[in-house]
Amino acid sequence: MEVHLTMSAQTYPDFISRNTITEVLGLQWPDEVVVVSGHLDSWDVGQGAMDDGGGVTISWNAGVVLQQLGLRPRRTLRTIIWTGEEQGLYGGLAYYNNHVNESDKFQLILESDAGTFSPLGLAFSGNQEATCIIQEVLKLLQPLNATQVVSPMDGGPDIEEWQKAGVPTGSLYTESSRYYWFHHSDGDTLTVEDPDELDRCLAVWTSLAYVAANITHRIPHSPVADKYSIQGEALNPMRNGGPSHSFQFT
Ligand SMILES: [Zn+2]
Repeated sequence: MEVHLTMSAQTYPDFISRNTITEVLGLQWPDEVVVVSGHLDSWDVGQGAMDDGGGVTISWNAGVVLQQLGLRPRRTLRTIIWTGEEQGLYGGLAYYNNHVNESDKFQLILESDAGTFSPLGLAFSGNQEATCIIQEVLKLLQPLNATQVVSPMDGGPDIEEWQKAGVPTGSLYTESSRYYWFHHSDGDTLTVEDPDELDRCLAVWTSLAYVAANITHRIPHSPVADKYSIQGEALNPMRNGGPSHSFQFT
């Protein structure tokens, strides 16, 4: 069989674009930060409602909801709407490079970019103590049936560098079996977004971010060296046979 495929896609020159950032300033430790995020750009077909309009909507509105409820957490809640994700994670990488020297100020970094279907919990990367704290926080979401903590984080492309740097990171975990029905296609339109599911995702996102920003505990970071030398060795019996770059979070 011979297939003739005609494509009309073009690559245009690069231009300057920017991340969009809003904050609810922390009352007690304003320089410590919890990030909620999604990416504003989308694939060139469809409307990008699911990828990643849903993630942008809940991240933007997390701050709005806190304002409406008159809630100011102890730490700052920072919403970041990334730019240029589909073209190559440009916004996420630029932000990482500009802020990695302040990484100890980040309590928790979240991204929703794997669909805003019915929420189940959080896909999380962090050490054992950090995971324990997140599990306790998510127990508060029992009324929304969204208490699951799965590891490692999967689906936060703009924040992966932070994950590698040992900062606690999470991706909204949802009933996403239909994600690839619409992903990067003409099918990704606003009709995919169920208003009730979106509302519940927003409730999970806002509650999780607020509690993480408000608890007196610092969520511990993972020293990167430890992840390679201790956990990597424990998980990889072949390690003595040569260097291994695979590691897992617990
Ligand atoms: Zn995306």
